Amino acid sequence: MLTVIKNVEVYNPEYLGKKDIYIERGSIGDICDDFEITSNSIEVNYIDGEGCYAFPGFIDGHVHIIGGGGEGGFTTRTPEIQLSEFIKAGITTVVGCIGTDGICRSMKDLVAKSKALTEEGITSYCYTGSYEIPVKTITGTPKGDIMLIDNIIGVGEVALSDHRSSQPIYEDFVNVVASSRVGGLLSGKAGVVNVHLGDGKSMMTYLFRVIDETEIPPTQLLPTHINRSSSLFEKGIEYVKKGGYLDFTTSSDPEYLEDTELTAAEALSKVIKSNIDKTHITFTSDGNGSMPLFNSKREMVGLGICSVSSLYDQCKSAINDYGVSIEDALSVITKNPANILKLPTKGTIEKDKDADIVLVDKKTLDIKYMIAKGNVLMEKGKIVKKGTFEAI
Ligand code: ZN
Repeated sequence: MLTVIKNVEVYNPEYLGKKDIYIERGSIGDICDDFEITSNSIEVNYIDGEGCYAFPGFIDGHVHIIGGGGEGGFTTRTPEIQLSEFIKAGITTVVGCIGTDGICRSMKDLVAKSKALTEEGITSYCYTGSYEIPVKTITGTPKGDIMLIDNIIGVGEVALSDHRSSQPIYEDFVNVVASSRVGGLLSGKAGVVNVHLGDGKSMMTYLFRVIDETEIPPTQLLPTHINRSSSLFEKGIEYVKKGGYLDFTTSSDPEYLEDTELTAAEALSKVIKSNIDKTHITFTSDGNGSMPLFNSKREMVGLGICSVSSLYDQCKSAINDYGVSIEDALSVITKNPANILKLPTKGTIEKDKDADIVLVDKKTLDIKYMIAKGNVLMEKGKIVKKGTFEAI
């Protein structure tokens, strides 16, 4: 069966105007002005795109898909994420990672969950390792995991400048980056190292040293949580000027930000004003980890789970609250991560790419349809496909 989206305004993420999008066998067959089927024998699912924008499916490059948290003891470990969370959030591609707990959370479990999400309908990859160096891998080295395990595309999240980090010496850190780079080269993958930056004093010192002291290109590293403080953000701006990439985390609670924390939307608006290379910026949700909940007196009253929906919510906030253009706001969750993570069939709405498309209401920007690999998973705002163990 063919699917044709009629009369929809397409952002690729550049604006293409009002078009018809024709989808066949999971890929985009064409984007044209007036698509017509001449044969009566072909079954066509027409979607009326009038009043909607079509965006490329969103890419979330940092989600604790097998659960995260655990830093308040065993009862604070968050459960596995379910497919519908991604559908609601318009996320068609996700990269899973472990976190602080590299003992009870295992790489084999992460690889299996990532494969399950791909079988259930979206596209999923993962990073090998956890906060820790030496990196706990499946094959023995980061290079081996990236080369031999199809859904592993890099290393992460390795923690630096954080009291929970394994406090690696610089040489051990750079060895991990080198192993990841070579694994990427030999397998045609990104081999990127996703670096968690905490609120410590050393900040991005090791990352600047990789640029200044080695032959490894800055594009091998993707540091995250850069919006956690204004001082880290300022370092990040310097870092992009040297050719580095930056990732902003969307899942902080805008009502209870840390002292100098910036929302991802605010950080993006500042990047755009500062005239640095905005193609080097991405957003990720850090979703499915634990999140402290506060009452109005800022007292912690319990623990919740960070939502992957914050990814697109912060894009909307960038557009609505900070005047960022739709193109710029969308790029950080579509085209930019597709380039940085070397996912050539993702991130744009183009002929022969995967048919990963999100349709949103033009006025509210709310998600109406979510299409992953050509399959409609949300229709008129209603989820029509659930994960294997979710109640319909
Ligand atoms: Zn982190």
